[in-house]
Amino acid sequence: MENQEERSSCRRQRVVLFPLPFQGHINPMLQLANILYSKGFSITILHTNFNSFYTSNYPHFTFRPVLDTDPKDTNLSKLASQGVGDLLSGIMLLNQYGAVSFRQELDQMLIASKHQHEPIVCLITDALWHFTQSVADSLNLPRIVLRTSSLFCVLVYASIPVLDDQGYFNQVNSDLEERVSDIPVLKVKDVLKMRIKGQDDPAAKLLANMLKQTKASAGIVWNSFKELEESELLKIHQDFSIPSFLIGPFHKYFPASSSSLLEPDRSSITWLDHQAPNSVLYISFGSAVQLEEQDLLEVAHGLATSNQPFLWVMRPGLVKGSEWLELLPNGFLDEVGERGHIVKWAPQQEVLAHQATGAFWTHNGWNSTLESICEGVPMICSPFWGDQPLDARFMSDVLKVAVYLENGWRREEITSAIRRVLVDEEREDIRERARCLKEKVNVSLMKGGSSYESLESLVGFISSF
Ligand code: UDP
Repeated sequence: MENQEERSSCRRQRVVLFPLPFQGHINPMLQLANILYSKGFSITILHTNFNSFYTSNYPHFTFRPVLDTDPKDTNLSKLASQGVGDLLSGIMLLNQYGAVSFRQELDQMLIASKHQHEPIVCLITDALWHFTQSVADSLNLPRIVLRTSSLFCVLVYASIPVLDDQGYFNQVNSDLEERVSDIPVLKVKDVLKMRIKGQDDPAAKLLANMLKQTKASAGIVWNSFKELEESELLKIHQDFSIPSFLIGPFHKYFPASSSSLLEPDRSSITWLDHQAPNSVLYISFGSAVQLEEQDLLEVAHGLATSNQPFLWVMRPGLVKGSEWLELLPNGFLDEVGERGHIVKWAPQQEVLAHQATGAFWTHNGWNSTLESICEGVPMICSPFWGDQPLDARFMSDVLKVAVYLENGWRREEITSAIRRVLVDEEREDIRERARCLKEKVNVSLMKGGSSYESLESLVGFISSF
C-alpha cells in the first residue's frame, strides 16, 4: 500500500476493533484492520478466547482477550459443540451481560493509551455486538459499525416486522414461488428460508437490536461496493442518517493475509495447476453450515454424473454425525478418481482467482459471494439460512451471475446446474456478466473509484475524532 512505511513512522491514533468470533466475521474485520493500519492507524484487536485466531500472522497488531469471565454460562466453546443455534444464544447472552466487564477493559485501555501519546480515537465493532454502543457512549468514544453482509440483506432485516405483519413467516401452505409484494426480488420461500419465525423470534430480536444500535453509531463500514448495490445504497441513506462507507471488497487490498481458523490445504492449488482453464467446479459451503447425510449422497451423485472436474472443501463435521469422508457413497472416490480433489479447508481466495476455476458451488455466505464476484466466477447457489437465501436470490435473479438450486438437494438438478455453468452454451452469458462485474470491482478500487474514494472519506472521518 502506498506510503505505508512513511505513515507507520508517524502513527498517532489507535483504533480498537472487535470482531464476532466466527470465520465469516473475523476475516472482514482483520482485513479492515489491515487496511486501516496501512493508512497510518495503530490497531488493537479485541477477541474472545473462543475461536481466537493465529495472531502470529499479525505482528503489527496488539491483541487483547475480552469477555472471558463467563458471567452467565456464556461459554462459547461449549455452546459451539451444541450447534449454531446455541452459538447464537451465546452471542445474545454476551450482548446481554457483557457490558460491565467490557466497559472495564475499554476504560483501562483508554487511560493507558493517553500515557502512550497514542490516543484511542474510536471503536469499530461487528454490528452484532450491539451492546458495545452503550459502553462506547458511556466512555464518550465514537463507535463505528462493521456490517459484514450485503446492504440488501440489512434492508430485508429492517423489513422483518412488516413481513411478519403481512404473514410471510407463516406462509407454509401458500405459493412459495410467489414474489414478496414489498420486496419483489424475493420469493416467499426465500423469506421462509431465513429460518426466522417472526419478529418475536430471538434471532429477529437480535437483528432488531443490531439495527437500532447501528443507527445510534457514528457510521457504518460495509464490505460491499457502490456499483454492486446502487439502489440499495439509496434506501440505506433514507433509513440510516449516519454515514455509510462502502469500501469493499476488503480482501482485494491484501490478498495474501490470512485469518483462517483452519490450515488451508495447499494441494488445492497444485491440483488446480494441472486442470484446464475454466474447467473446475469449486465447492465450499463455508465455515459453519451442516449437511444432512441424505443431502451429501445427492451431492456426491450429482458430482459423479456431471462428469466435470471438481475441488471440494469437506470440513470435518460438514455432514452431521460424521468425522470426514466416511459417509460418501461406496465406490464414489474410485469412480471420480483424479477428476475430483477433496480437502478439509482451501485457500479460497486463491482458488477462486485460479484460471482453472470455472464455477463456485456456494452456500452464499457474504464473504464467499463477494470473493466469487471479485474473480468473475459464476456461482451455483445452495443457501442454508439467514442472509444466504437473500444473497443467493440477488445473485441469480438480479445480477444473473448464478444458477439457483431452487429445489434443494436433488441429484438431477445438481447435475443440470453444473452443466449449465460449466458446459452448456448458456455458460458464456453467465460468465460474461460475471466478468463485467469483476471489472466494476477493479474500477471501484482504483484511484477515483467509488471504494477508493469512500476509504479516503473513512480515513478522514476517523482522523477527525
Ligand atoms: N474459506 C476459506 N477456505 C475454505 C472455505 C472458506 O478460506 O475452504 C473462507 C472464505 O474465503 C470466506 C470465509 O471462509 O472468507 C467464509 O465466510 P462466508 O461469509 O462465505 O461464510 P460463513 O463461513 O460465515 O458461513
